[in-house]
Parts: sequence; C-alpha cells; structure tokens
Amino acid sequence: MNKINICVLAGDGIGKEVTDWGVQALETAGSYYDLAFNFQHELLGHAAIQATGEPMPAATLAGCKAADAVLLGAIGDPHYDLNPHLKVRPEQGLLALRKGLGLFANIRPILLFDELLDASSLKKEIIKGTDILFFRELTGGIYFGQPRGRKESGTVAFDTKIYAKYEVERIARMAFEAAQTRKKILHSVDKANVLESSRLWREVVQELASEYSDVTVVHMFVDNAAMQLIKDPKQFDVVLTGNMFGDILTDEASQIAGSLGMLASASLGSEVGLYEPIHGSAPDIAGQNLANPLATILSTALMCNRGLHAPAAGQLIVDAVDAVLKVGYRTRDIMDQQTDSDKILGTQEMGAKVLETIHTIAKRSVPA
Ligand code: NAD
Repeated sequence: MNKINICVLAGDGIGKEVTDWGVQALETAGSYYDLAFNFQHELLGHAAIQATGEPMPAATLAGCKAADAVLLGAIGDPHYDLNPHLKVRPEQGLLALRKGLGLFANIRPILLFDELLDASSLKKEIIKGTDILFFRELTGGIYFGQPRGRKESGTVAFDTKIYAKYEVERIARMAFEAAQTRKKILHSVDKANVLESSRLWREVVQELASEYSDVTVVHMFVDNAAMQLIKDPKQFDVVLTGNMFGDILTDEASQIAGSLGMLASASLGSEVGLYEPIHGSAPDIAGQNLANPLATILSTALMCNRGLHAPAAGQLIVDAVDAVLKVGYRTRDIMDQQTDSDKILGTQEMGAKVLETIHTIAKRSVPA
C-alpha cells in the first residue's frame, strides 16, 4: 500500500498538543479505509527560530513541498508579542510558508454543531443552523504589500494594501464555484467606499458575476459585514474577502461556533494543501492540558475531503466529533452552565475520546 506523506508542523505553544491528536485521528480513521500515513515533522515559528535562527528553515519548505498535505498547529510566542521591534519573528515563517507553497485561498467553514448552541455568547435562535464557507485571500493584501516600514526617525509607520486583478480573480472563481454547489449566493466583502484596492476587488468580482449567472452576488462593506455576522449569520452562505478582513471576520465568526478551538481551515492554491485550526498558539493555556484539540482534528477531516480524496474518512472524523459532543463531553472553552463537571475534559482526554468514538462508529458502519 502506498503511504500518504503528511508534513506536520506543530509550531509553538499549544501547537504540539493539538497536532498530536490530529495525527492520531487521521491514522485511526484512515485505518478503516486502507489509508496508511507517513508523518514527517518539521519546524516552524518560534521553535524554528530557536533551533536554526530562521522562522521557516529551507528544510521545512522542502518537507512541505514533498508531502501530499501539510498539518499545522500554530505559531507565535509572547516574547515577540512583547517586543514588536524584533526583526526575526514567528509570523514571518507562516507568511513565507503560505507564499512558498502558493496557498492563495484560505477556506474556513463556520459550522455550528447543534450541541454547542449554549457555548456561544450569541442567542440560540440567531445562530442555530449557521453554515458559512469563508474564502479568505491569503497571499496578498496588506499583510504582504510593499513598501512597509518606518520613517521620520521611526515616528511614522506605514503598510501597503495592494491587490492585482489576477489575485482577486483566482480566489473569486473558487468562491463562485463553491457557491454554485451550495445556496448560490455569494457575499463579497470589501471597503470599496474608501479603499482603491477594494474598488478593484469589487470591479473584478462584478465582472466575473456574468460568468456565474446562477449565483447572486451581494457586495457588502466590511464594517457592515462585521455587524451583520452577529445580527443575522444565516443570511450568509459563501463569503469572499481579502486577507486582513477575512482574518478578522473569521475570528468573529468563531463565536458563532462557540470557540476558536472548534474552527478548522484549509489553505489551497497549489498541489499541496495546508490544513490548520484557525486559532493561534494560545500561550495563556499552553502546556496545561486545556487546549481544545477539536479544531485540529476537524482540520484533518478537511484534509481527507479536500486534499486526500478520502471523504469517507473525513466524515468518520466529523461524525466522531459530533458524537462526543452529543454525549456532553466538553473542553473548558466550550463548556456551559449545563455541562456536568465529570464531562469537562482536558486536551488529552478529549483527543482520546474522539479516537475511541472513531473506533466505535467505524466498527458499526464501515464494511470490513
Ligand atoms: P490565540 O488564538 O492564540 O488565542 C486567543 C484566545 O483563544 C486565548 O484566550 C486562547 O486561550 C483561546 N484559544 C485559542 N485556541 C484555543 C483552543 N484550541 N482551545 C481553547 N482555547 C483556545 O490568539 P492570540 O492570543 O491573539 O495570539 C497568541 C499567539 O498566537 C500570538 O503570538 C499570535 O501572533 C499567534 N497567532 C498565530 C496564528 C497561527 O498560527 N495561525 C493565528 C493567530 C495568532
């Protein structure tokens, strides 16, 4: 049997705690569908800087390029957050990796498990049934634009928000195609009333709309979108937006799903896709067995669906997560007042519970 090569980048903070369980979920679900894996571990972020002086060593990019898919935990360390003047930084590793792998589209499903309706700070009737697919542009915009820097003896700082037509077009096509397979409505989020780059964004999306005449396009300003997302999230189905707006809106949307610890993402664009939870390295809870591993486990389900052409294994992982939540098990970030204290689990116990449930469901439903 040919092995599937997965490059694992645990990164920093809770990254290792959660990727360990992502790896095990993949192996366990895969074993029921004759999928065998070879996991290669590489460094990224603060861990890479400590070991090599660079946030993304050449070996990391080479390992990712040679793999069938990449599983990432998270990067980031308070040392840099508290010292903004440091020139070599963990985030540079992540940005360079996305650029190096040509991952221009970040796909973030905001899927709400009914069992977590009480974990959200929003009203149940507002959020029940929410199912949004975000397309966030990932290798352009203000996070990459040049020039950037300081002038006037460091007292003035500037960044550049820049988009080329082709950058908007290629991700917009992906979003239109996804909308065609769903509710045929696409919200394109920009700030075209103020920003020139957003005017181009809107122009390109509008131009493409004629090719996808079965899809209704709604253009929305980002400030309004931020408000509408919590006022009436069910009006959205597929959302297309730029790098920074998508970064912020999806963190906001995580509250619909209950926690950052529940949201998975796929970054696509070239042959090798990268799958990661949307949360960061959470230094406040790192090493304390408090991290919710479900976002990473659900990222491996996305990997099965989108990168490994193994949707049955992906569905098995999602079903197991759903079943564990249905029984009432929670990590601390998704517990509510109704949660029994004996059902509040740490990272390790939650991960183990998902594996156990994968076995239980598979033995019942997967043909031998
Ligand atoms: P964060 O996502 O790490 O944490 C925000 C809050 O959510 C914290 O209270 C944290 O405890 C909680 N949280 C996050 N993931 C959780 C999980 N799986 N289970 C339970 N609780 C969880 O964001 P932050 O605090 O703004 O940033 C911390 C570091 O992470 C920074 O260095 C930042 O640069 C980095 N970061 C990295 C990524 C990435 O690797 N993709 C994304 C965002 C932030």
